Amino acid sequence: MSLISPWRSDFPALAAFEAENQTYLDSAATAQKPLVLIDALHACYSYGIANVHRAQHLPAERSTQAFEAARQKMADWIGAGSPSRIVFTRGATEALNLLAYGLEHLIQPGDDIVVSALEHHANLLPWQQLALRRQARLVILPIDDAGMVDLDAARQMIGSRTRLLAVSQLSNVLGSWQPLAELLPMARTHGALTIIDGAQGAVHGRHDVQKIGCDFYVLSSHKLYGPDGVGILYGRNEALNQLQHWQFGGEMVRAADYHAAEFHSTPFGFEAGTPPIAGVIGLGATLDYLAGLDMVAVSAHEQSLHAELMAGLLARKSIRIVAHPQTALVSFNAIGVHHADLSHLLTEQGIAVRSGTHCAMPLMKHLGLAGAIRVSLGLYNDSSDLQRFFTALDQALELLA
Ligand code: PMP
Repeated sequence: MSLISPWRSDFPALAAFEAENQTYLDSAATAQKPLVLIDALHACYSYGIANVHRAQHLPAERSTQAFEAARQKMADWIGAGSPSRIVFTRGATEALNLLAYGLEHLIQPGDDIVVSALEHHANLLPWQQLALRRQARLVILPIDDAGMVDLDAARQMIGSRTRLLAVSQLSNVLGSWQPLAELLPMARTHGALTIIDGAQGAVHGRHDVQKIGCDFYVLSSHKLYGPDGVGILYGRNEALNQLQHWQFGGEMVRAADYHAAEFHSTPFGFEAGTPPIAGVIGLGATLDYLAGLDMVAVSAHEQSLHAELMAGLLARKSIRIVAHPQTALVSFNAIGVHHADLSHLLTEQGIAVRSGTHCAMPLMKHLGLAGAIRVSLGLYNDSSDLQRFFTALDQALELLA
């Protein structure tokens, strides 16, 4: 059965790609944008933009209102409970760095910061560097053959020294959902704070952060069909209250003197300087679009397309799939072929996939791989994209044989 995406025509880039013979299968890196977002950005700049939270004139009031409406929409989308629990950053990476600085004062020499072996550099390096700054120990939870955190090992490794647990919701390399329902209580029992990197997970299905039960959840607008330059940090009230300020400047300060200052609490105390105004307003438009979709149908489409992708790869004898992807993406290699050579031949045929270490060098080393090709799906992809991919793959494999 040939799968057709009913949402494809909502994304003008897909038709533009088709016109230039490009097949976009790299949405895990960044997603294409719906027309409603492009229109919202156009309106933002053509009707006039003003800085937010500062002036009282009409343009400022309009921009501030749209900006704060987007905060409410984000809170609604992830079940945050209140817009005051949403901090806008400039990306998921910045949100994780905010946490690594904001929580630094809670870490003493000899404490444990726990991450998993499959983390993206964005959810590894901030914690690695925090551990180095505070003489803490970075504990790496191993993963099993299915590409999930090994829960037996985690039970042994999370303990009374654990202060923070930071793990991904969905691996950007392995495509595996992580067992958060089992993992998070292990950290909570010991009073540790939990941080979920939802950069990939937030894009597939709709997730309720309060049901997940984490202290902090981070996601990225540009992967969720929104503008780039915007990230989101959600925190529980008690967790947010523990954050130390980290970036200093305009609008995050309640009162300032030459030698001292008093700062706002979250969210404004953590949004120093002019925020990405149009980006946040555009994200609001994207969230309106997403909220209007039948998310059950979207998930079913993504799942069927993923199954088709997996079946096609498994049918080719020279292909070795990395771990057991459950959704949205798959990483693989061809026996005896360097991933860069295969990627080159795919690129030449207009197939836009990613190859390399996918910002997870330690994971690749751990898996004994120099790299891998990653195919990743968005809600606008359909069987026609996969057919073009497989035709190009077969041609490339024939040339490399
Ligand atoms: N975590 C994961 C799992 C990711 O895939 C990415 C993006 N590649 C990030 C974090 C970083 O997100 P951003 O691009 O918004 O900084």
